[in-house]
Amino acid sequence: MSADLYEILGLSRSATQDEIKKAYRALARKYHPDANPGDKEAEKNFKEVAHAYEVLSDERQRQQYDQFGVIGGAQQSGFQGAGGISDIFEAFFGSSSPFGSSNFQQSGPPRGSDAEILVNVSLEEVVLGGETTFEIDVSAACEGCQATGSRGESEPEVCSACGGQGIVQEVRQSLLGQMMSTVECRSCQGYGSIIVDPCKKCNGAGIERKKKRFTVGIPVGITTGVTQRLSGMGHAGPRGGGNGDIHVRYQVSEHERFERVNDDLYEELWIPVTQAALGASLEYSTIDSTERLQIPAGTKTGERIRFRGRGVPRLQRRGRGDLIVTVIVDTPLDLSKEEKELLMDLAQLRDEPTSEKKPRSRKRR
Ligand SMILES: [Zn+2]
Ligand SMILES: [Zn+2]
Repeated sequence: MSADLYEILGLSRSATQDEIKKAYRALARKYHPDANPGDKEAEKNFKEVAHAYEVLSDERQRQQYDQFGVIGGAQQSGFQGAGGISDIFEAFFGSSSPFGSSNFQQSGPPRGSDAEILVNVSLEEVVLGGETTFEIDVSAACEGCQATGSRGESEPEVCSACGGQGIVQEVRQSLLGQMMSTVECRSCQGYGSIIVDPCKKCNGAGIERKKKRFTVGIPVGITTGVTQRLSGMGHAGPRGGGNGDIHVRYQVSEHERFERVNDDLYEELWIPVTQAALGASLEYSTIDSTERLQIPAGTKTGERIRFRGRGVPRLQRRGRGDLIVTVIVDTPLDLSKEEKELLMDLAQLRDEPTSEKKPRSRKRR
């Protein structure tokens, strides 16, 4: 699969989606196994064409291909994400199955299934990015047989029922007459070969469970439920079949101070009556910086102070949301004698009747 995907379809790099579709249809018709029964070369071409189309018809995969020039890069030991935008989704797509999820008749070992993992991140990590490391149990190539499924030097036998193709042509009678169709070979379950002396470690499956550790960049701006796909990092298919993907599902933890609404953050800030009445300039910590919070004299409960661009970065877009501080005027409790007298003096000065009387007058009562 090293040939240039554009060359396979006979197209230039600037081909439109329409041109890609057209080229694919023509070539798929030409190389389709039903049109070329038993022709190995045609089958190989057909797979290449299908693969090229699968990648280039998906704008995201196409972008990745244009950027990296190669497909795959699936490493067994781990995946380093830089946390940037380009590696968020599908940084790698499988070097494994040329068919993936397409509905073509597949021959050879099946692709492994996808695995999913839930990763908890803090709001700080959503804002600042960072890395998360997790371990996951996935099936991997059996070390006893290097994924072949056969013990020692023994070789699997070519399946006699399908001649190693994994598929057979079946003729069926239908209302329209005889119909040829291609189906998976029942003798070898599509593998094309039969294991005579199975590996003792994996019983011929070619896979074993392994704990793998991954470190991925946390995409900034994510919300709970966003999934990052690590292509070709999931379960290995039996007997050398390609790997499935890992879906990293993110869950953002609640924050003790800030409430998040989309990309904006909200906080309620309780301030004393004195600051509300006289105004104040306070040091205020946002989620990732220290700012000056100016409380104007005469601030009332419910008034909002907005810090532009101090909210959550927008996922895959420029800019950040805002941080909105809602002021709540805190009525003082547990007044000392002196404080009470001061307030009563103030009440008298402003001619505001209160339920409290001056201590002397209370004594009289
Ligand atoms: Zn084995
Ligand atoms: Zn067979």
